[in-house]
Amino acid sequence: MFKILGVDHIGVAVSSLSEANNFWTTALGLECTGDEVVAEQKVKTSFNPTGNGSEIELLEATAPDSPIAKYIEKNGGRGGIQHIALRVDDIEAAIADLQAKGIRMIDTKPRYGAGGASIAFVHPKSSFGVLVELCQHK
Ligand code: ZN
Repeated sequence: MFKILGVDHIGVAVSSLSEANNFWTTALGLECTGDEVVAEQKVKTSFNPTGNGSEIELLEATAPDSPIAKYIEKNGGRGGIQHIALRVDDIEAAIADLQAKGIRMIDTKPRYGAGGASIAFVHPKSSFGVLVELCQHK
C-alpha cells in the first residue's frame, strides 16, 4: 500500500526559464530555489515554492526532442501545465500497487527527478489525459 501525501508540484512547460521568471518570481514574488539540468529528461528546471509545501516547477527544453519541446509544439508554440506531481510515501509500493490495479505506467521503476527525488510517470492513457508524476523525497 501507499499513500498520497499531497500535491508536490505542478510542472509548467515554458519556452524560456528567464522570460517565465518575469511572471513567476518578479510579478508573483515566488522565490526560485535554483535551476537544475536533468540531462536524462532533456530539461532545465527551476523550482518555486508556493509556501504551503507545493511548488511550481518551470521546465525548459534542452534539446529539440525533449518532452517539453514536444509539449510546446503540440500546444501551438505556447507553454502550459505539462504535468501534476503527487507526493507519495513509498514510490515503489505506489508503482506496484497501481500496476496491480491495471494502471499503465510510463516508468515501471523509479527514476531520478530534479532535487534528488525519486519519480515515476503514470501513462496519460490511464489518467484521463493528465500526465501524473509520482514523487518521493528522501
Ligand atoms: Zn515534475
